[in-house]
Amino acid sequence: MQVPKIELSIIGGQRGVQLNTTVFPIICPKCNNYFEELYHHKSSRYGFVGTVTCNCGERVNLIDSDNLVDYIKCHTDKKSVVLDFGKLFQLELKNIKQLKKQLGYDLFEHHINETIALSDLVESIEKETGITATSIKSKIPLPVEVKKWMALLRGPSLPINTLANRSQ
Ligand SMILES: [Zn+2]
Repeated sequence: MQVPKIELSIIGGQRGVQLNTTVFPIICPKCNNYFEELYHHKSSRYGFVGTVTCNCGERVNLIDSDNLVDYIKCHTDKKSVVLDFGKLFQLELKNIKQLKKQLGYDLFEHHINETIALSDLVESIEKETGITATSIKSKIPLPVEVKKWMALLRGPSLPINTLANRSQ
């Protein structure tokens, strides 16, 4: 079985990173609620990913870019909402710069031209900085590695005992 994951190709320059994700939240354009469960993307045919039914009864069609998956379009007959994963997961160029500012971790320096899973990247940052990422609380369902990534972006707000351990 394919393991659902979020992959980043580290390009650098103004393009930053290219995302390809097979696990993500989806939203109902009618009632504006996120589905409780994350969606596991397996494949698409000409961009058509699948249809899901919301608790409100609405059927929602899911459309991707038919290539690397960095957004999902959730649409009904009347309305559509595009979820941009770079924005939603805070994996845009500005966030990578934010990480460098907060933790001194330069993603481009460490992983340029690599394709890396976000879960591996989080581990790599933890190892390099000595910080353990604790998942942030989120109102919308997000993959655990995204919640850890967002915690890292906030910088080293460490409990006192963790700081003590680091200075040993
Ligand atoms: Zn709904």
